[in-house]
Amino acid sequence: MSFFSKIKSLLGGSTKKQEPVPELKPKRATGVYTLPTYTPQTSWQCDPNKPLEPVPPVNTKPKEEPKPEVTKEDFSGLVVMLDNGHGEETPGKRSPDGRLREYSYAREIVKMIKAELDNLGIEYYIVVPETRDVKLKTRVARANKKYEEIKAAKKKAIFISVHCNAAKNGEWYSARGWSGWTSKGQTAGDKLADCLYEAAHEVLDPKKIQIRKDKSDGDEDWENNFTVITETNMPACLTENFFQDNKEDVAYLLSDEGKNDVVKIHVEGIKKYIRKYVKKK
Ligand SMILES: [Zn+2]
Repeated sequence: MSFFSKIKSLLGGSTKKQEPVPELKPKRATGVYTLPTYTPQTSWQCDPNKPLEPVPPVNTKPKEEPKPEVTKEDFSGLVVMLDNGHGEETPGKRSPDGRLREYSYAREIVKMIKAELDNLGIEYYIVVPETRDVKLKTRVARANKKYEEIKAAKKKAIFISVHCNAAKNGEWYSARGWSGWTSKGQTAGDKLADCLYEAAHEVLDPKKIQIRKDKSDGDEDWENNFTVITETNMPACLTENFFQDNKEDVAYLLSDEGKNDVVKIHVEGIKKYIRKYVKKK
């Protein structure tokens, strides 16, 4: 032992190198796990001998709500005289491609208007039930004669003549749109025209379909002394339902949408007229 080591051992120190501490490693589970035993609960089990409990009946019908009583609007008191322009033998009066003929189109529209008026309980008189052309003077005479009966029954009447417009003689042209016509000057027909224009705006404005206006006399309708609206004694209006010589108008007129719109303008206009001038308090 060297001197140095002797001193160290005397002081209690050790010269021995310390053993390295073994690294701790996580022990792997080696045991076998036993799952807890599952004991079924007998109360869940069905007793095949137990009688089935009655199942409450399933109500498949929806509960019927008490319906509010619908009171049909009263449109009585007015007779609508419906005139259709021209006849089978009238020359011209058709689209250049011959697909639309004014006399038959006007009759088809009048027939559709008639069906709507039936639904609404609105009285009407068909001035020309024939398909042939009936002279304007004869139309006027029929309407005025009927008007005497209507007045005697303390009812009111209006006269509407249904047409399609034309701008050229048998060629396609650019003019388009719907318009209503009254006789010149302020007449009772202007009130009717206002109602028809109001309805036309409701039907056509949302679709951006053209309405032709003549504002020179303060209202939108056009004025011309057509025989059927000048010589008839009741408020009268003539509708020019789009142009039979405009390609787009003809396509629209011949479509279900176009026909329904034209009918709606007339029917809604008539309803407005009754509310304003027949049923007024
Ligand atoms: Zn016409």
